[in-house]
Amino acid sequence: MTFSELQLHPDVLAGLEAIGFENPTPIQEQAIPSIIEGKDIIGCAQTGTGKTAAFLLPLMHKICAEGVEDDHVNSIIICPTRELAIQIDQQLQGLSYFTGVSSIAIYGGGSGDTFTQEKKALSEGAHIIVGTPGKLISHLNLGYVNVKSLKNLVLDEADRMLDMGFMDDIKKIISFLPKERQNLLFSATMPPKIRNLAKEILKDPIEVNI
Ligand code: AMP
Repeated sequence: MTFSELQLHPDVLAGLEAIGFENPTPIQEQAIPSIIEGKDIIGCAQTGTGKTAAFLLPLMHKICAEGVEDDHVNSIIICPTRELAIQIDQQLQGLSYFTGVSSIAIYGGGSGDTFTQEKKALSEGAHIIVGTPGKLISHLNLGYVNVKSLKNLVLDEADRMLDMGFMDDIKKIISFLPKERQNLLFSATMPPKIRNLAKEILKDPIEVNI
């Protein structure tokens, strides 16, 4: 299978070609069509399987299809650590090079200056925000993130986030978001507490296992 068979937007295909991804990985092949269709997804996948691009590519595709001129926050990706937020945002920047899709990464551990810079970047708007739970809540509480047009929520490495005690933070973030939205949950393991979280958050999810 090729990426163009997955019906991705030409600007997204151009990014894939530039970055040198030739064929979709199994999780990309399984997840991308359902995400483009608008389905909620529960994906069981380890790091190294291509799970990041499995959600980034269809999110970018949909933003391109709807028109990048609308620069309201379209998607929030919540992940457990600063390192992962940076890594996801870097992959996003590479893949979105030809698309006009914009992103901001916000994560804990910075100084007060970082917070001011993030506030400024958020006020200028971005299609996709990648962040760690605590930092996202701080900005949402202060009203710095306008999520009224949000359409997609991604929980990446959900099992790690629960192990790190972020369950309440995740629920708090979700309380700020529009109820009508698409939800994608990725986790390396599927213990009962992840199943319960999925039941609470996802609507008729398609399950993808690698
Ligand atoms: P991930 O599982 O998302 O952490 O991705 C693991 C690595 O695979 C990253 O370095 C990606 O850049 C790379 N990758 C993701 N999708 C593809 C693909 N379709 N072809 C080649 N490399 C890929």
